[in-house]
Amino acid sequence: MELTATIPVRKNPYPKLNEVDFKNLEFGKYVSDHMLVCDYADGTWKTAQVVPYANLSMSPTTLALHYGQTVFEGMKAFVMKDGRINIFRMEKHYDRFVRSLDRMCMAVPPKEIFIEGLMKLIEVDKAWVPNKSGEALYIRPFIYASEAKFGVKISDEYRFIIFTGPVPALYAHPIKVKVETDYVRAAKGGTGFAKCGGNYGGAYYPTRLAKEQGYDQLLWTDAKENKYIEESGMMNAMFVIDGKLVTPPLSDSILDGVTRDSLLTLAKDLGFAVEERQVSIDELETAFKKQTITEAFGAGTAAVVAPIQTIHINGTDYILPVYDNKSLHNKLKDELELIRTGVSPDIHEWNCIVG
Ligand SMILES: *Cc1c(COP(=O)(O)O)cnc(C)c1O
Repeated sequence: MELTATIPVRKNPYPKLNEVDFKNLEFGKYVSDHMLVCDYADGTWKTAQVVPYANLSMSPTTLALHYGQTVFEGMKAFVMKDGRINIFRMEKHYDRFVRSLDRMCMAVPPKEIFIEGLMKLIEVDKAWVPNKSGEALYIRPFIYASEAKFGVKISDEYRFIIFTGPVPALYAHPIKVKVETDYVRAAKGGTGFAKCGGNYGGAYYPTRLAKEQGYDQLLWTDAKENKYIEESGMMNAMFVIDGKLVTPPLSDSILDGVTRDSLLTLAKDLGFAVEERQVSIDELETAFKKQTITEAFGAGTAAVVAPIQTIHINGTDYILPVYDNKSLHNKLKDELELIRTGVSPDIHEWNCIVG
């Protein structure tokens, strides 16, 4: 991709790259030397700049801190087998960013600023992209309401930031989940499809209760009947039932995951039957009893897949069969890795090569 705008760069005089222990990466521990910053005020977006990563200074009245106008994205860049750097499905993440921002009445940065700013940032910090299999540079674009004024209102000022940090491959051990029928993550007409901060804050309490009962995560159900599966924690929920890959259909209470979309596409490419349809708790219980359910997993950028070992439904712990590398979720994860690193052909044009 050719850059049309020149994004000014102020280099970090105190780079920390040499302080990173690349052999022992931890998710969320390290941030790269630079960040992209762009402010919105007086009805326009100002010049985007790449600047040294630094703390923010803000007024206690900053609107985002009180009324929750915050939206984020999460994506990854990889080193390809030929050494070039690939930002995976950048435009699809931008499109979702726009939908989230619209729902939260927030200013939307133009696509050129997002794409060119991100590409410039990755170019400047390309030495931060780790190159072992499964590792990645995690990319966190976000926007918050930056106007300093108390009193409830839609902010007239916003700050858009992108920072990045190297993350390890997550080899998730199979987790125990509990079907949640008392609390809800998202309701019809709500903000479930938007990647806004409040969705996470609101999910913590019921998740903590489940952890106290010995479960790692919740399987959320719909807000109306608490009957249909929605998501697995903060990942999209997927099942293999009768040999088919089954996942709940997108709605305003389900986040349109880029991993979800990628895995569904790859499953079809590999010749598997894929069904986007409602999955009821009753169907899961019946499938366990008849032993027709063979896999359950979450899908999301951080871990790609999070295999599920146990599902708690109405007082019973149902156990999934032991997974191996023939399990569909492992095949899909491996295939995704091959595409991202340029080993398999990128037939769906998901890779955005920075150079
Ligand atoms: C981010 C997120 C996902 C996963 O989306 P990806 O684009 O695959 O990372 C799923 N559910 C929720 C609620 C999320 O916030």
